[in-house]
Amino acid sequence: MELLIIGNWKLNPKKSLEAINTFKAIKKALQKDSKTVVCVPTLYIPELSKLISNHISIGAQDAFETELGAHTGKVSALLLKQYKVSHCLIGHSEMRASGDTDEIVSHKLRSVLKQGIIPVLCVGEKERTEEHWYLHVVKEQILKAFDGLSPNEIKKVVIAYEPIWAIGKDAIRSSTPSECEEMTIFIRRVIADMVGEKIAHTIKVIYGGSVDKTNAQSFMDIQGVTGLLIGRASLSPKDFTGIINNAYDTLKEKNKQYANTQKNQRKTKVKK
Ligand code: PEP
Repeated sequence: MELLIIGNWKLNPKKSLEAINTFKAIKKALQKDSKTVVCVPTLYIPELSKLISNHISIGAQDAFETELGAHTGKVSALLLKQYKVSHCLIGHSEMRASGDTDEIVSHKLRSVLKQGIIPVLCVGEKERTEEHWYLHVVKEQILKAFDGLSPNEIKKVVIAYEPIWAIGKDAIRSSTPSECEEMTIFIRRVIADMVGEKIAHTIKVIYGGSVDKTNAQSFMDIQGVTGLLIGRASLSPKDFTGIINNAYDTLKEKNKQYANTQKNQRKTKVKK
């Protein structure tokens, strides 16, 4: 399994120098084998893209759906591509709140795919009710975003489950691992119904919403969660790299245990 832990700095930090120093501190503290993507404000992308490596790349927080033209204030995937942007958030709840409809989200997704940038499609319900309506909300967001895409395109997309009530400093609380697990299984079921079990099994599904150093591993331990989308905690190099390095250590340990079990099973078979 390949992990994907993404930071979302949102509209932070205040100064370019602070962005450079935070980025460098994250890069330095990442241990060998660890990888991450940091989605930074557009204005910082040209400078920070000079610092990318095999371990750390730059993500964008949005991309306008039209490549070029009379669109004052917008930045498209075509422009972002020049700065080696690897990933782009699409349909983040803060963008949906400022007007991104499912249709716009779908156009943005295509424009990003066209430039070879990996879209991170953010989905999530505003509230949880006992009637499980949130499952319907998330299903609709996925179906509308993927409308007309080929299986080959769909498999490149990362889906970030971000319940809105769990995001940001006004969050009620983070999701519980069991709520997150339920939704992850459900998302993979929706994908399976659209494009088959194989893609449903391999597509990346990550969790975001008040992830911090105290709860990160509980989400990573859920089978089917392949990574995290981290807002506030990604601005602290110590907390962010602590989460990343710990997740990679745990994965290495799991892989080692799995290899040992396989070896022992082979030995037992030979003896028989
Ligand atoms: C986010 O902005 O996508 C996010 C998950 O934020 P936070 O981690 O601060 O809740």
